[in-house]
Amino acid sequence: MQTGQFLVPSDGNRWFFDSGSLALDFGWTGPFASDEVAERMHAPEHLRAWLAERFEQLEPAADPRNLQDALLLREAIVRIASAIADGGAIAAEDVDTVNLYAATPDVPPALDGGRRQAGRSVIRTGQALSTIARDAIALFAEHAEDGRIHRCSAEDCALLFYDDSRSANRRWCSMQRCGNRAKVRAHRARAKAS
Ligand SMILES: [Zn+2]
Repeated sequence: MQTGQFLVPSDGNRWFFDSGSLALDFGWTGPFASDEVAERMHAPEHLRAWLAERFEQLEPAADPRNLQDALLLREAIVRIASAIADGGAIAAEDVDTVNLYAATPDVPPALDGGRRQAGRSVIRTGQALSTIARDAIALFAEHAEDGRIHRCSAEDCALLFYDDSRSANRRWCSMQRCGNRAKVRAHRARAKAS
């Protein structure tokens, strides 16, 4: 599954942020870093739209209960990721929340090329949330200690991501955003010094 999404900060200039994982992308659908990310899950249909971009054959509507579940799961994921990135303690209740959603049926994998074209059944919203919870478990279980889940190197940027680069040297939430700003600042500092 492709990761990444457009974020819309308070200044309205949308930009593409790839958190490196489905679970963290889901985390960044809410306002967890001051004005960098706006809430986009205001109603069940917003949840449904976000999930439908990632899961084929999703059921046509989400309900308020689904949204409530999604927000609880999202909060737990973000808090665990933040604890890992900042070296804090992971709260047992957040672990319980993620485990709870992962324990329900997820979206089963399917191989292309079968004869039953219409064989795949409609995916329920709860299944999609379970897949996200399982993705979070796989991510946190494997990368809680290796430093690959970390925040952007820019001082004024709180975005965190999973660095899946082979050399584990991703520094910026996005090169176009914080990376270039840092380059410009470094260039100005050098020009001033010379
Ligand atoms: Zn950044």
